[in-house]
Amino acid sequence: ETLKFLPPLTLVLAGPRGFCAGVDRAIQIVERALAKYGAPVYVRHEIVHNRFVVDGLRDKGAVFVEELDQVPDDAPVIFSAHGVPKRVPAEAGRRGLEFLDATCPLVSKVHTQAERHHAAGRQIILIGHANHPEVIGTMGQVPEGRMILVETREEVDTLAVEDPENLAFVTQTTLSVEETAGIVEALRDRFPSIQGPRKEDICYATTNRQAAVRTMAAGVDALLVLGAPNSSNSRRLVETAKDAGCDRAVLVQRAADIDWSTLTGVKRLGITAGASAPEVLVEEVVDAARQRYTVTVEDATIAEETITFKLPRALSA
Ligand code: SF4
Repeated sequence: ETLKFLPPLTLVLAGPRGFCAGVDRAIQIVERALAKYGAPVYVRHEIVHNRFVVDGLRDKGAVFVEELDQVPDDAPVIFSAHGVPKRVPAEAGRRGLEFLDATCPLVSKVHTQAERHHAAGRQIILIGHANHPEVIGTMGQVPEGRMILVETREEVDTLAVEDPENLAFVTQTTLSVEETAGIVEALRDRFPSIQGPRKEDICYATTNRQAAVRTMAAGVDALLVLGAPNSSNSRRLVETAKDAGCDRAVLVQRAADIDWSTLTGVKRLGITAGASAPEVLVEEVVDAARQRYTVTVEDATIAEETITFKLPRALSA
């Protein structure tokens, strides 16, 4: 074998990165349900937004569908980590389906807040991104018209509400921390008596992953975010990197998708992964880099995460 000269490259690995406790729990729910009931087990929507995870579970016997009417009466069905509108478990109950809810407990917490505000007669403003399943699920906790979606700070100025004295807000869990702070500030300025969480409902995992990227962004020449195009928290990591001074931040699904020619001149390459991207995808990128460079790996962990969530009772032990 001929020896060839491989140029040096430092890979700077962000931490925390990758799987959060909610994603880990959702995947375990599907795996344990398969063990308990046997295949097929139906899953409404991608259990988490990652093709690699979904394909792996499909190979083990999970069947992914978009709506309940695609689930036969005698098969168990699991709701994805993003949460579902109230009509979904209601419908499953009416049909007598065996169902398991993999909604992340931190999303359920937002649902509970929404219900409480609604019960107190407040109109609710949801800060989030239209059409994301979490937003559809959260809006579906209250009757139609009782929750208004706001996506940008500008929209706050023209927002028409029923009664400014009787308002509350909740947020999607995977938003940009900085952008959301601006929207919350605008809401509090315009509606001083609005009720809501002290800051927002952005989860610990989203917050930590963005903080890690923000910390490393100026010290790398480019940054790869492993994640899916429909993964909200992954897309926010790309934006966070750009906002913090790393213009060359891109979202990639896995190593095979990287166009290494676009990384010419890069000496320090940052790597992170969205909350639904498994660590094996990061390992693949490190291996692919070793084929092309003399790699040094640098760890840029800023925080340790120890949080875990309990499984539903039907599947624990
Ligand atoms: Fe739960 Fe946050 Fe993970 Fe979403 S990103 S599943 S809210 S921990």
